[in-house]
Amino acid sequence: MNVYIQADFEGIAGMIEWDDYVTDSPMNQEKRARLRRILTSEVNAAAEGSFAGGADKVLIWDSHGPSNNCNNIYFEDLNPEVEIIIGWKGLPSFYPLLDSTFSAGIYIGGHAMQGSVKAILPHTKTNLNGTDYGEVGMFGIMCGWFGFPLIFVSGDKATVDEIKQISPKLEYVVTKESFSPYAAKTLVPEKAREMIRVGTEKALKRIKEIEPIKIPSPFVIKTETNQFAGKDLSLLFNSYVDPGNEIFGNQDVNPERARVLKKREIWDKEISFLVPPEEGT
Ligand SMILES: [Zn+2]
Repeated sequence: MNVYIQADFEGIAGMIEWDDYVTDSPMNQEKRARLRRILTSEVNAAAEGSFAGGADKVLIWDSHGPSNNCNNIYFEDLNPEVEIIIGWKGLPSFYPLLDSTFSAGIYIGGHAMQGSVKAILPHTKTNLNGTDYGEVGMFGIMCGWFGFPLIFVSGDKATVDEIKQISPKLEYVVTKESFSPYAAKTLVPEKAREMIRVGTEKALKRIKEIEPIKIPSPFVIKTETNQFAGKDLSLLFNSYVDPGNEIFGNQDVNPERARVLKKREIWDKEISFLVPPEEGT
């Protein structure tokens, strides 16, 4: 039984601000290192739960980016039996090597779709056949396309609520409950890690009870911010894609920095209205 784990960042225990890979201050670098260690431990917990649940092979896709190159996990600290895909440029797909040789999908560190209330750092959405999906939902749909279920998700409560709408029987861990896009009550990482290990093992053992997410054809996809995932789905579904809005603006002296800051500015603008007035400082 082969397991595919997609790892994002925003949904891990303790993360409440955008991943700031531009600022070089020691304080920011230390914060990033702490969060990357937590991400690594949550992914490792999912891998170990998978092996305990009967997985023969675990492939991890370190998907947070691409602006920081999808290279967030301290892979040297992972269970030596896993394999991991890192890097972004030149990938064949947003879901590299995902295919019907896998039996189960797991999503670690998920966040809710753009516009979600009481959600940490909600962003991106893709409209498929008239329904909006977030990144976790799109991964679940991709797994379903290949004929197997998304069996486990970890992220904040808004993320889990979102995915349970389309897959009510999957296993999950709520890592934190959000007051706003930038504030939450969170589990301590050690607790989250243990719950993820137990939850993924249980999910593997319950796999027959969890249906693959199946979206009926024909497929019409409209993407806004999540262009890459939308384009990838379109190739698989051979459908029409509306590329939607261009979210990255002019680039100045340092194109990468300008692009990152522009993205953050746009995402902050999109979610700022979600901050309750009394908590908006
Ligand atoms: Zn991310």
